[in-house]
Amino acid sequence: MEKIALVTGGSRGIGAATALALAARGWTVHVNYLHSAAAANRIAARTGGRAIQADVADLRQVERMFAQTGPVSLLVNNAGIAHAGLLTDLAPAQWQRLFDVNVTGIFHCCRCAVPHMVREKAGQIINVASILGANGASCEAAYSATKGAVIALTRALAKELGPSGIRVNAVAPGCIDTDMIANLTPDDRAALAEDTALCRIGTPQDVAEVIALLAEPGTRFLTGQIVGVDGGLVI
Ligand code: NAP
Repeated sequence: MEKIALVTGGSRGIGAATALALAARGWTVHVNYLHSAAAANRIAARTGGRAIQADVADLRQVERMFAQTGPVSLLVNNAGIAHAGLLTDLAPAQWQRLFDVNVTGIFHCCRCAVPHMVREKAGQIINVASILGANGASCEAAYSATKGAVIALTRALAKELGPSGIRVNAVAPGCIDTDMIANLTPDDRAALAEDTALCRIGTPQDVAEVIALLAEPGTRFLTGQIVGVDGGLVI
């Protein structure tokens, strides 16, 4: 199969770094975004693909996106949103939006990408989960629940698609320095860094390099795995 990838949420943070890391390994990478058109276009100009706006939570928009990309041999489900606060303060619409983007978005993209992969008996899906999906965090209950769903989805889909020659894995990042953690105070950041074995917060490139590695043919016997990229936060 041709090395054509789609990275959802590829305009910023981990997704943008992933698109660039894949391009450095010879992939043509389409870059999905929701709001950041200029940033997505800048990344896509460096990855040989198109910048495509679509809210992954909306199946029609995702179908239109895949009409533009054509078949992809690698789907990186990275688009995600977070929310911090007490569960009891979370409005039902906020709970729903977290699941619509973080979980249903993956369903929508897989629904569009998988049929071609099954026909080809090849292809890969890499989901971006979180260490919170296994461990949970206070004031991030809903977000943690979405990432727990991503982990279960990854394992189940690996079993479902393995016979068709398709690998499905996930990365579970720890604390990574992107806009998503912009609300942390310097003290919070220092405390989080201290909790890791490597004594630092991660960079988007730290996660991107692992995703790019998972996409390499050398990892061909690896599927259904949740690879922690957390500097030793969870050991
Ligand atoms: P980020 O810097 O906030 O970037 C989020 C990306 O997702 C942006 O490209 C954004 O597009 C896109 N996006 C958001 N909602 C979307 C939607 N409905 N449809 C399409 N695209 C959408 O976040 P990040 O830290 O790189 O996070 C990337 C992934 O890593 C997420 O799944 C997140 O849960 C996970 N993660 C992050 C951390 C961390 O510490 N940062 C830790 C564990 C897991 P626009 O730019 O157009 O808004």
